[in-house]
Amino acid sequence: MSVKRVAILGSTGSIGVNTLDVIRAHPDRFEVVALTAAKQIDRLAQQCIEFKPSIAVVADADGAAQLTLLLKEKEIATQVLYGPQALVSAVTESGCDTVMAAIVGAAGLVPALAAAQAGKRVLLANKEALVMSGNLFMQAMKVGGGELLPIDSEHNAIFQCLPDRFAKNPSDHLGVEELWLTASGGPFRDKPLADLAGITPEQACAHPNWVMGRKISVDSATMMNKGLEVIEAFWLFGLPLEKIKVLIHPQSVVHSMVRYRDGSVLAQMGQPDMRTPIAYGLAWPERIDAGVAPLNLTQLTGLSFTEPNFTQFPCLSLAFAAAKAGGTAPAVLNAANEIAVAAFLDEGLPYLSIPNVVEHCLNALPPVAADSLETILEADAIARQAANQFIHAIQK
Ligand code: NAD
Ligand code: MG
Repeated sequence: MSVKRVAILGSTGSIGVNTLDVIRAHPDRFEVVALTAAKQIDRLAQQCIEFKPSIAVVADADGAAQLTLLLKEKEIATQVLYGPQALVSAVTESGCDTVMAAIVGAAGLVPALAAAQAGKRVLLANKEALVMSGNLFMQAMKVGGGELLPIDSEHNAIFQCLPDRFAKNPSDHLGVEELWLTASGGPFRDKPLADLAGITPEQACAHPNWVMGRKISVDSATMMNKGLEVIEAFWLFGLPLEKIKVLIHPQSVVHSMVRYRDGSVLAQMGQPDMRTPIAYGLAWPERIDAGVAPLNLTQLTGLSFTEPNFTQFPCLSLAFAAAKAGGTAPAVLNAANEIAVAAFLDEGLPYLSIPNVVEHCLNALPPVAADSLETILEADAIARQAANQFIHAIQK
């Protein structure tokens, strides 16, 4: 068994920490060669001291100086780099064969694309990258010749429920009729929109089943997360949008399903613990211990599945609309949402204004073909500007 050399983009986040937890239990299988973080220097220093990567990357020069000092004290020889281009170096110059793409948001796009182009095994958690650049990213994977393993639990579940041949030729549908993405419905599943006016960041981030970063937690509350995941599934699995459905499943036991032509529905079940999909992606096609407690079906009181209410979750409707519009619309949706969620978390933007910001940007910025990275990054930048202006105007 050859040892896999892993680079983790976003190692201090929720996915990053869970990835290191799985790797820690399998030192015979995995070696960490690069770790990156934006600001949590102390946590990154601890990770470098434990895993001794050849490269560590932080956001800026101050952070790099701080990290260098902390590592020097412990005589750790990790090379410390900083800035967006250094994230690409972590992929291309660390000697990795596997990249965990777990930076949150558009900031993760360029290094994830570099991993695709370089033919790495890409473990994709950073759904925003695929939402922005789906066509380009899937092309880059093809040309690079690496393996793409979805880490988002729903897409990992679907990947597990599809035949092996599907990954090699997604245009051959092999009797696949529909993909059913399950959604917990988040903390406000049963609350009418009108009751959500005064929701605080703490309430929105208190997800009933999963512990995650703050941005994705808010996205789960608005169900923008499921909308982004529909677009993610569209690119990953190559089925028409009409064949991708969302089901509310509050128990988060069935992580998603595939319905076949012959009447079979295959589901993947498990604890709501991201170490399962992470371990699956790291070891594929083998299976390793993920440190996850066994699922005990006899302790479940029941499993339920209902259609989502699109009026209650306007962000889900907006994501479907952007997916249908195509081109740069998903990049605009994503950028506007990132700005709106950040403003909700840090600047007192009312919770119910999040969809208004996104809708405003989608209406103001008609889509163009998303045929180059430059076009996509420009759409992202313009949408951020439009979102900020709109937020400024409504908060006056
Ligand atoms: P998080 O906020 O906990 O961690 C984000 C990581 O990205 C951190 O290491 C942070 O330092 C880094 N980062 C943030 N901004 C950056 C920037 N501008 N430049 C460089 N690095 C930056 O987020 P998370 O919950 O771990 O989610 C990571 C990604 O995985 C997201 O795209 C999310 O949608 C996806 N995902 C997460 C979960 C989950 O359970 N947490 C599940 C499915 C998918
Ligand atoms: Mg998910």
